[in-house]
Amino acid sequence: MTFQAAELLVQKFGGTSVGNPERIRAVAQRVAKTKLTTPNIVVVVSAMGDTTDELIRLAYQVSDSPTPREYDALISTGENVSAALLAMALNAQGIPAVSLTGPQAGIYTESTYSKARITKVDPARIWKELDLGHVVVVTGFQGINELNDVTTIGRGGSDTSAVVLAATLGAKECEIYTDVDGVYTTDPRVVPQAVKLASISYDEMLELAALGAKVLHPRSVECAKENRVRLHVRSSFTEATGTIVKEESEMEVNRPVTGATLMESEAIITIQNVQDRPGVAGHLFTQLANATINVDMIIQSSETSQENDITFTINESDLTAATLVTQEVARDIGAAGVKTDPLVAKVSIVGVGMISKPGIAAKMFKVLADHNINIKLISTSEIKISCAVARQDGRRALQLLHDAFELDQL
Ligand code: ADP
Ligand code: ASP
Ligand code: MG
Repeated sequence: MTFQAAELLVQKFGGTSVGNPERIRAVAQRVAKTKLTTPNIVVVVSAMGDTTDELIRLAYQVSDSPTPREYDALISTGENVSAALLAMALNAQGIPAVSLTGPQAGIYTESTYSKARITKVDPARIWKELDLGHVVVVTGFQGINELNDVTTIGRGGSDTSAVVLAATLGAKECEIYTDVDGVYTTDPRVVPQAVKLASISYDEMLELAALGAKVLHPRSVECAKENRVRLHVRSSFTEATGTIVKEESEMEVNRPVTGATLMESEAIITIQNVQDRPGVAGHLFTQLANATINVDMIIQSSETSQENDITFTINESDLTAATLVTQEVARDIGAAGVKTDPLVAKVSIVGVGMISKPGIAAKMFKVLADHNINIKLISTSEIKISCAVARQDGRRALQLLHDAFELDQL
């Protein structure tokens, strides 16, 4: 490696931040300013505005089930546009810059399309360009597989591209520029009383991201934690300091709950009156896994006359496929039937402080009950509690929990 870690910064700009030519010029100005004090800058960009959604719409206008390879070849192009434009804007401002696609930047992924994980980075070209004094603008969201084909790494994945590069290049920090000025106690667009956090631990951020806080891609937090990359989530529209994501949050030891999330696209499947014998759950969830369906919360009701129900949640987009698989399993094992509930939301509270404070779950359930919100399923980890509720109750539940745990008072 040519450079010392402390000399290199990775800055990632999301879709809104590069949403139009003006915004791209503004981003170029910000990068130019950073360049005054930081010699080596790698910039990672998302596609402009809603470009990726539009590309996906286009794909479905020509095919009901787009070929995976061509789908990725198409939806990865949004990032090519913004990277080239930003490099041009930088050059126009007198800052020598070059854009690199995922493949050019040496970002290798698994062979599977649409949600490929990054497997390795060969940073030789990036170092070479930095050596030449260039700001290197890399496309987020994309890489190359062993067939030399372009892959994409999952919606919102540019955050992960940035953190992977920061880890590989030994950057001192990875700045995530977005359209909010940091990580809030919950989505400030849903709960206006949400408060910006000065810092948050990797573990809490990982739970929040996995439970629906869209502000960071879950895998980016995983990678940051593994490689000890400090993240600074901040706004590309202001100069204000944002939220630091790091090892420990030194604050609020007494605070049991740090944040809350809502996922509004859940669905529930119940397989009824299953024979209570070993191997049934194993069979069902193996079949679902084989169909690449992600199962989230699971409950098995206690046995009544040697039979029980198994209930689980999935993303609503998998409901049709998951129902078919479950119906098949129900026939195999002689279960009474399969029931579905397509309109479910999952509301969660997260905080490392809940480990040492009993009664948090009880309080959550009581708040929901007091407001007549029925809990369909519960799941917990050491630092989070999630409840599945009717989708129409989701936003109200989030607001009630935010109030009850006084997250607006942080
Ligand atoms: P980008 O295009 O910059 O990657 P995203 O739309 O992916 O931006 O993520 C930013 C959005 O995340 C915000 O506009 C906000 O509505 C949403 N969000 C959800 N939960 C949170 C949270 N806890 N803190 C901040 N933003 C959140
Ligand atoms: N453009 C991609 C998406 O919309 C990746 C990203 O924005 O992070 O999902
Ligand atoms: Mg994003």
